[in-house]
Amino acid sequence: MPNGTANTKGTIRVLQLYPREMNIYGDWGNVLVLKQRLSWHGYTPEILEHNAGDPFPSDVDLIIGGGGQDSGQLVIQEDLQALAPTLRGLAEENLPMLLICGLYQLFGNFFRTQNGSVIPGIGVLDLETHGGEKRLIGNVVATSPEFGDIHGYENHSGQTFLGPELAPLATVTKGEGNNATDEHEGARYRNIVASYLHGSLLPKNPAIADFLIRKAVERKFGSFDPGVIDDSLAEAARRHAATRPR
Ligand code: GLN
Repeated sequence: MPNGTANTKGTIRVLQLYPREMNIYGDWGNVLVLKQRLSWHGYTPEILEHNAGDPFPSDVDLIIGGGGQDSGQLVIQEDLQALAPTLRGLAEENLPMLLICGLYQLFGNFFRTQNGSVIPGIGVLDLETHGGEKRLIGNVVATSPEFGDIHGYENHSGQTFLGPELAPLATVTKGEGNNATDEHEGARYRNIVASYLHGSLLPKNPAIADFLIRKAVERKFGSFDPGVIDDSLAEAARRHAATRPR
């Protein structure tokens, strides 16, 4: 189906968590990519938001969460804790999720910030995060067995360590990723992709966008009927990103 053709294949509901507080360094672009690629694949995207205090919507097919300042993480933590059983249930039911930086941290067990406060996580991912003195900032390239080279930008003080059973998303070849010591970037669990990378992530990494879309569509409709997408601009952006200094 050519780009831009109206949907004939069904609706996919994409929920963005806490777009007011958890949405920095271009994370909003991830939502735009999912919206655009869903329609290029012939599906109708429906974009929903959940902010603190809102009722959690029903029939969500894909969840997306971005990064935020430590202060923003504190603002949303109570509401996130209230959603914990729902989000844990959806994760175990293989709902696809993309979690970037600040929400990646809070889907883990806890984030001990640099000033010593502990923000509890919701334990979807077995990981913990410790605020460090040195911020990890700059362009990143990381290699993943599923997605090939992943390009993005990191800016975080929290350093994340995965539990023994949790797989990293990728191994860094430029930059730091989860922490300054083990070369892991992000985490992969069921249909969750978690990453420190902003930029935004999905415009330069359409393979991850299509993984999330495929899982959402298969889960809802049984099979995925992809469209043909011209990714030459994304490929050019990837080639350019690979040449950028740290
Ligand atoms: N506040 C967190 C940290 O600095 C997350 C930052 C982010 O989302 N970029 O570690």
